[in-house]
Amino acid sequence: MIEVKTSQMAMDLEDQYGAHNYHPLPVVLTKGKGVYMWDVEGKQYFDFLSAYSAVNQGHCHPKITAALIEQVQTLELTSRAFYNNVLGVYEKYITEYFGYQRVLPMNTGAEGDETALKVTRKWAYTVKGIPANQAKIICCENNFHGRTISVISMSTDPEARDGFGPYTPGFITIPYNDLPALEKALQDPNVAGFLVEPIQGEAGVYVPDEGYLKKAYDLCKAKNVLFIADEVQTGIARTGKLLACDWEGVRPDVLILGKALSGGVYPISAVLADDPIMLTIHPGQHGSTFGGNPVAAKVAVAALEVIRDEKLAENALVMGEIFRSEVRKIQSPFIELVRGKGLLNAVVIKPFDGKTAWDVCLKMRDNGLLAKPTHDHIIRFAPPLVINETQVREAVAIIAKSLKEME
Ligand code: PLP
Repeated sequence: MIEVKTSQMAMDLEDQYGAHNYHPLPVVLTKGKGVYMWDVEGKQYFDFLSAYSAVNQGHCHPKITAALIEQVQTLELTSRAFYNNVLGVYEKYITEYFGYQRVLPMNTGAEGDETALKVTRKWAYTVKGIPANQAKIICCENNFHGRTISVISMSTDPEARDGFGPYTPGFITIPYNDLPALEKALQDPNVAGFLVEPIQGEAGVYVPDEGYLKKAYDLCKAKNVLFIADEVQTGIARTGKLLACDWEGVRPDVLILGKALSGGVYPISAVLADDPIMLTIHPGQHGSTFGGNPVAAKVAVAALEVIRDEKLAENALVMGEIFRSEVRKIQSPFIELVRGKGLLNAVVIKPFDGKTAWDVCLKMRDNGLLAKPTHDHIIRFAPPLVINETQVREAVAIIAKSLKEME
């Protein structure tokens, strides 16, 4: 195997041999630990993306990597054709942890969403009594649930959607954070579920009005419609509670988790629900070769234990408050708005002097902090939840210095 000696070499290789489906910030990382990452040349950075909130427990957490190494050297994969001695232990652990009767294990977030759609449709036909092939699922404008065909069929983002039709039918799209629109859509008797992100992450960290989730949940209940929460990005302590839905005391009928369920070391997702919903799926109707494999099972238990043992939700809550209040003190013509919850935050950037959010990210990179724009003018700031107050203040100083240098 050829050795990558410089950042340029790594970027050239990706450019020449990889599909061009991403536009990364030009930085080539080689090592991570806690809230830090290092590039090929040895420069240290604060990670303020956390792999889109997958690395909530911090890079290379010793407990999670140890679980991975131990299990991968013992039994890696059986498929679900046979039982293994780890999956059931994980299923008991995660269902008790989140308070559900059953879990369906998958790998990526998009697969988690696909699974939730299938479970909801199956429930619609076998329990609710919707006529065959008529079930509809309400989704929200500016959603992000992943990249599969059915998932992008719900998307309203032309970049994610255009050129990939024909699309999967059966979705009703309504504006986010709009209860009258939800109430109206729910009048259709063939609606089976309402799929919602408690905070829209990829859209730019849009936090809905207080009370939205609770009222949306109540509206769904009144119509016997499943409330499906996509907590792939917001879940697992990111927003300062275990789940973002906990902020409003809502217990989703169907809960989708991913990303930080592994602390970033492995693709693990899960759908949680109770018997009347989950047991509508029978053998042969859904699954995945890797879903629920022994390594994933061991890793997920370790990752969830770290969240609880290290009180990462509590830390995210406090550090998030400090981060937002400090960033709001920065005087800069680039800052239009600061918003977020816990350690899921965004700064809306006003282009100034021909410079955009991308230029701000390049400048912050030069000064030792990595973040990425979403939708051109919004920068998400989402460090690993193990960050401490000194580090938050150092990071904010880098943000302030970078903005100053750009004026
Ligand atoms: N759902 C939400 C809310 C997400 O933010 C993402 C990814 O960013 C996904 C689903 C898709 O997850 P994955 O990229 O693992 O398929």
